[in-house]
Amino acid sequence: MESLKRWCYRPGMAGSTFSRLLKPIGEHPGFFLFAAIVPTFPDILYAVSREMTFFVWRNLILALLLSLFRAYLLTLPLCLQRHRHANGGGSTAWQIIRTGYISAILLILGVASYAESFLQIHFGTLCSASVLQVLWETNAQESSEFLKTYCASTSFILLTIFFALIVAGYVVLRKHAPKFRFRNRAVRTTLAILLLIGLGISVSRIQIFCKLLLAEHDTPAIEAPSTPISTFERIHTALAANNFSPERAERLLQILDSARVEGCSFRSPCIVVVIGESFNKHHSSLYGYPLETNPRMEERRNRGELFVFNDVISPANLTTSVLNQIFSPASLDAGEHWDEKPLFPALFRKAGYATYHMDNQAAGTVTNFHDLGLKNLFNSRSNPLLFTAVNTLRHPSDLNLIDDYDRIVPKTDSAELTIFHLIGQHLHYRDRFPADEAHFSPEDYDRPDLNARQKQILADYDNATRYNDRVVDAILEHFARRDAIVIYLSDHGEEMFDYRVHFGRTYTPLTAGICKYQFEIPFLIWMSDSYRSNHPEIVEQVARAINRRFSSDDLPHLLMDLAGIQCPWYDPTRSLVNDRFDNTRPRPLLLGYEPAGDYDVLIRE
Ligand SMILES: [Zn+2]
Repeated sequence: MESLKRWCYRPGMAGSTFSRLLKPIGEHPGFFLFAAIVPTFPDILYAVSREMTFFVWRNLILALLLSLFRAYLLTLPLCLQRHRHANGGGSTAWQIIRTGYISAILLILGVASYAESFLQIHFGTLCSASVLQVLWETNAQESSEFLKTYCASTSFILLTIFFALIVAGYVVLRKHAPKFRFRNRAVRTTLAILLLIGLGISVSRIQIFCKLLLAEHDTPAIEAPSTPISTFERIHTALAANNFSPERAERLLQILDSARVEGCSFRSPCIVVVIGESFNKHHSSLYGYPLETNPRMEERRNRGELFVFNDVISPANLTTSVLNQIFSPASLDAGEHWDEKPLFPALFRKAGYATYHMDNQAAGTVTNFHDLGLKNLFNSRSNPLLFTAVNTLRHPSDLNLIDDYDRIVPKTDSAELTIFHLIGQHLHYRDRFPADEAHFSPEDYDRPDLNARQKQILADYDNATRYNDRVVDAILEHFARRDAIVIYLSDHGEEMFDYRVHFGRTYTPLTAGICKYQFEIPFLIWMSDSYRSNHPEIVEQVARAINRRFSSDDLPHLLMDLAGIQCPWYDPTRSLVNDRFDNTRPRPLLLGYEPAGDYDVLIRE
């Protein structure tokens, strides 16, 4: 009974050290609670969505303690006001500063938590370098479509209601302005100890931030030094990891400049690479989709001009990440980093090819890039080493790239490599085809599991795919009278309500379904009439290769093989059509920029 008394209310203890320490909390309990609890929602959501391993528990507890201490620090400035006020004068100005401070802090904490909670609930991911890259890849118009699409989802509405209740709770608490004096010694001691532990953790986290700051200008900039906990650490880590350091960029320029080619047979005098965008091959009639999404390509296949490859995947499901890989002869399965080897257009230039880039994503000023990540590959310093000429503007329709080509490329017979990089079927799908080219409508889909809006998205995607068929057909037609070979591939796939009610791409651990719809890509080789009659041996090689297992990561080796380029970076066992092609290699995948497993293992699970 005596010991119980000791743990209970004792008015004499109010002036103790702990009591003074906890005074700011007692004076501003509403602010403190909001600042302590709200930022931890994403961490809690993340933890409950995982298997509760030791590390998940540990990180959650660290996040809670960090947040508690941060809330305490943020509450301290509110206590300054009382002293100033007691001195008299300036109270109105203080009131304004105080209100501004409270509003700014609560808004920043609330919005950051809300946004990251949404990411976690809807995409199963917290803020990461990949998420930031996706934001870069998304222009304002797409963002509004994205919001329109997701604002109607149940999880979004529930989350919004939840946050509205939190804000309402805060307003009520503030109105009644209760004060706590922490007279219960157990509560007081526990809270004070937790705060002190929070202080210790905060100090230990400072060295992680220092490491990150230094890492931004160092080689391993891509690697984050530790698992970030809390939204703010994750944003900081993501920004640092996303940064392609000036040193890396400089080294890549040197590699491009110093690359040497030993010889070239120019066996294919005109090579065209068409890089598509977000093309789910299971929505192509070339690959058995029941709707006529690729009628022109089907005709070309039936005429024997076009070869359709059946087992090709992309190494990643993020445009920038894929393009890094497919422009570089470095191979993921060999553990090589893409910026260690000269990108293939530089090798073609050195070999004597004129190289052209008609790009509907990277063209424009730096701020006008569709995807800022592409700036690492294509910029004012790298372009002269890679290309003879490039287009300078993006267009609403990929067809306009052909006009760019006609305007920019001189009509000569010199050996030529041209790359068309399309916007293809990138979200927002409805903007990817002219309204009068719409062919499919929601009525074409017998999908009782989808609502009208989802069926419309599906129809928009298939219409964009059918329009892409027209674009690719026009490019092929443009080279029909040349001794030309054209390779079409998509950068990656795109989920389109294929096996669950979901569309787009995800940044969650890979499953067989995600591998199939987001990583399997259409891969086509077309050869003009004169090419087929001039190079019967290549036609046979291509025909023999259509069922081989290939990752577009090794595209440069196929292109160098077709050109007959001899150099240290060419490996015939990686060229899809070469008789020495190694069909047994593992095909590693990246989720964003991070290793995420092997396609051939994951797809069987
Ligand atoms: Zn893409």
